[in-house]
Amino acid sequence: MMHFFPTPYPDEILYSVLARYSVRCGITSYQTIMESIFGKCSSRAVMEMPFNLNSLVSNLPVNCPYTADDLIYNHTLYPFFTAFLPKERAEEVKQLMLSEGGSKIYGKAGIIGSRIPLNQYLRFCPKCFEEEQKLYGEGYWHRLHQIPFVMVCPIHKAILHNSTVLVRGHNPQAYVPADADNCINNELLYFKPETIEKFVLIAQDAKVLLENQYPNKQFKWFAKQYLERFKELGYANINGKVYWEEVIKDFIDFYGLEFLNAVCSNIEDKEQGRWLKEITHSDAKSVYPIRHLMLARFLGIGVEELFIKELNYRPFGEGPWVCLNPAADHFLEPVIKDVEIKYRRRNKNTNGFFRCPCGYEYMETVTREQGERGKGRRRFVRVVEYGHVWKAKAHELHESGVSIQEIAVRLNADISTVRKYISEKGQEKSKKLVERNSVASAEFEVKRQYHREKWLQIVRENPDKGRLELRRLGKYTCTWLCRNDREWWEKNTPAKKFVQAYSNVDWETRDKEILQHVKQTVHEILESDERPQRISLRLIKTKSGLKSFDLQLDKLPLTKSFINSVIENPMDLHKRRIQWAIDKLNEEGKALTVSNITVMTGVGNKYRKQVVEEIKRVLGELGEM
Ligand SMILES: [Zn+2]
Ligand SMILES: [Zn+2]
Repeated sequence: MMHFFPTPYPDEILYSVLARYSVRCGITSYQTIMESIFGKCSSRAVMEMPFNLNSLVSNLPVNCPYTADDLIYNHTLYPFFTAFLPKERAEEVKQLMLSEGGSKIYGKAGIIGSRIPLNQYLRFCPKCFEEEQKLYGEGYWHRLHQIPFVMVCPIHKAILHNSTVLVRGHNPQAYVPADADNCINNELLYFKPETIEKFVLIAQDAKVLLENQYPNKQFKWFAKQYLERFKELGYANINGKVYWEEVIKDFIDFYGLEFLNAVCSNIEDKEQGRWLKEITHSDAKSVYPIRHLMLARFLGIGVEELFIKELNYRPFGEGPWVCLNPAADHFLEPVIKDVEIKYRRRNKNTNGFFRCPCGYEYMETVTREQGERGKGRRRFVRVVEYGHVWKAKAHELHESGVSIQEIAVRLNADISTVRKYISEKGQEKSKKLVERNSVASAEFEVKRQYHREKWLQIVRENPDKGRLELRRLGKYTCTWLCRNDREWWEKNTPAKKFVQAYSNVDWETRDKEILQHVKQTVHEILESDERPQRISLRLIKTKSGLKSFDLQLDKLPLTKSFINSVIENPMDLHKRRIQWAIDKLNEEGKALTVSNITVMTGVGNKYRKQVVEEIKRVLGELGEM
């Protein structure tokens, strides 16, 4: 039974409290002191993780307020050593400390398994010691300072010194207090400032660990936390394959070898470095807490975050994601709930596939470019599938006379895509018609009959009108027939009467407008990087999206003369192709030879001789022949 119990100082380790007790109680025999503290003379003075604490608490003076939990959590290294153990294991360690656990504690707590050297001497911060002597009249052993690999006092940013007191001394029952005789400031340790900075960070993290009771987690929790952050930082691919070489290189850069050697964690060394890979295995059993803190620091994971916030790498952010279909009324609204993520081994890109119910599907890519971690990510989007809503819109615009170029702009696609889907739609329609005819659904038949009759009536009643005007008179019927019964409609509709259709047009204005449009188209044709096509009325028509009735050249004198001035004859085209071929070959670094150029121009027999002559002439001019 103790007749008094010294009030523990802030962060004082229980060993130190008991050392102060043993000095003051006036007893000189170690065994008698043991008996007064634990009720049994065989107990031992253990610094890091003491045991027999239930006995100790039952021997405290009557009015002493401390429980065993108070002592364990606030005055032993228990919260530090068990922080990364599963709950059951931590609980077992605690039970051993309450009872006669003895040396079993170090095995259970994974200290032995983590293969780190425990401190030989009790440690102290000279500045803390000096201040406390002034403040309390005595110094004491700090809990934080006794943690292996805590190299500095985070308050004074001072290197911790070894005292002359052995942690595992000659007499295992002796409690030795910190005093001016054993806390001698005589060591000459030198570290680079950047190493000390890192020591401070790790000491601060260890302090956080000591002073907080974070929920214990299974080993695999931490393995996953690290892996998710590895993925986010590009140290692992989306499937979890870690690029160890890069991790190790950057880890060493981050801490420096001086630091890593000081804490026996030089990962360049096979044996010392084993822990780094082990820590990311979900069955990693005994990784020393400081090493967890080192990895978390390196990865920018805060101590609290490490225990509390489940990390989940989402390369495309949190859903829902926006639909990029300009044809949909939910354009740019977050309506896509899932993303399918695929990893491409070849280029280390991560692709996300976003499928919208409107049928639109796009792929976004996160690339990972070496050496530009974090910053080097580039995202781009590619449309995988346009879908029914988009196609219907493209068709609708087309039917209402919008040019292919404009459809492409409005629906954010290139011209060839628009063209492809529009013609596809046409084929689909005729296929549908065949199907419908063979099914001969009664409803369809009734509708067809109705629209045919209505159309015939419109045509009959308007003998002078052209297609466009007839269409205006029976818009819905016309659209229905064009969509479902085109062949019949063609037979039963008067031939195109452009003049009538445009009877009210202001041709002068129109000429200027169309001229602008045609000029732009020709400019684009000439600027195109692709193999030149012959500039003809037909090409202008296709490329511009203008329809025949837009290009009634007889009524468009300006446009007509412009077109006549640019239309090419076959040799004009070949000359352009020769120039194009030369540019291409130069670009690709290939030889400018007559045969190379001839192949690329793709000339037929009729003009071959002329073309070869021309190539020779041009090469001669270039000094290549
Ligand atoms: Zn200090
Ligand atoms: Zn959509």
